[in-house]
Amino acid sequence: MAIQTDTLSKQEVTLSKDEIARYSRHLIMPEVGMDGQLKLKKAKVLMIGTGGLGAPLGLYLAAAGVGRLGLVDFDVVDNSNLQRQVTFTTADVGKPKSEATRERLHGLNPMIDIEAFETRLTSENALDLFRDFDIIVDGTDNFPTRYLVNDACVLLGKPNVYGSIFRFEGQATVFGYPGGPCYRCLYPEPPPPGLVPSCAEGGVLGVLPGIVGSIQAMETIKLILGSGDPLVGRLLLFDALAMRFRELKLHKNPACPICGPNRTITKLIDYEEFCGIRGEEAPAVTNGIPEITPTELKTRLDRGDDLFILDVREPHEYQICHLNGKLIPLGELPRRVSELDSSKEMVVHCRSGKRSADAIQFLQKAGFKKLWNLKGGTLAWSDQVDPSMPKY
Ligand SMILES: [Zn+2]
Repeated sequence: MAIQTDTLSKQEVTLSKDEIARYSRHLIMPEVGMDGQLKLKKAKVLMIGTGGLGAPLGLYLAAAGVGRLGLVDFDVVDNSNLQRQVTFTTADVGKPKSEATRERLHGLNPMIDIEAFETRLTSENALDLFRDFDIIVDGTDNFPTRYLVNDACVLLGKPNVYGSIFRFEGQATVFGYPGGPCYRCLYPEPPPPGLVPSCAEGGVLGVLPGIVGSIQAMETIKLILGSGDPLVGRLLLFDALAMRFRELKLHKNPACPICGPNRTITKLIDYEEFCGIRGEEAPAVTNGIPEITPTELKTRLDRGDDLFILDVREPHEYQICHLNGKLIPLGELPRRVSELDSSKEMVVHCRSGKRSADAIQFLQKAGFKKLWNLKGGTLAWSDQVDPSMPKY
């Protein structure tokens, strides 16, 4: 049942006196003991993502004495990460996440090897990165990377300890275990681009990644020890608001294109294309939508032009910051369009310019002609006009 830790298994691995003292609460449990702690020391775990899920994962795996930890992340620490990514301190803002995590984990446990890979996981580097590790832990937040991690794990025969979070809900399971299902057995096709919002768009309650990431850490340690019932063939669903766990049975799909007997995927593919995403994010549709920059808008407002400002965000966003516009959330626009005067020149805005572009497309169809989309929304207004405007 235990995961093979082949490269080191032939060498004699022992624990030093300091290690025995450090891991004594493991060592006195017969279920772990010296044998289990040596398995942990020999284990090599690769974490994909060092954000919200990666924080408890890294801390607990390092603390438990997992001998080699790899950290893959290309991102840098942002102020908005600190609400949940508890490995980082305020002083880490601007630092690469993989390196900041490495420093933090090294401080926690200098007796283990920690390697930071400051790179984006791609179809080109995934197999090489994964090859040296026994277990891969998926703490990413986007569909292309999830399919990539899954496929690389299945191709290499490595377990993939999966977790995901959104707003108040989390999921965890172990994919790619011998005989068990993979991510594609559960989700053969990615959702249409834009249908499932990211945490950056939909938000996430700060504690949630702590809980789901801790479950992933526990499953990883169980796989290393070969003890207990691993979360294989079971999708654990967590609802933080109801404080309820549910479990769905997952079956291996005989028609799975990568882990089934007649597989059609035999190498890594272009996952951005597979998920219908080009580049970093799906770009906002701006075709045929007239734009005004925050600087231009400021100039026109200052000279007293008669501009009507329509804010299509939600009321809780208006509370954070606003441009004194009329608030009609995008979803309410169709039934409240009569509140607007089509003879007036109108600037529509949201946070980033995406929802306001949708609003303008709707208003154009409704016969409005004098429309401007505030390019970059309140975020750009803060950057270009008024730095005191909060960014969220
Ligand atoms: Zn499968």
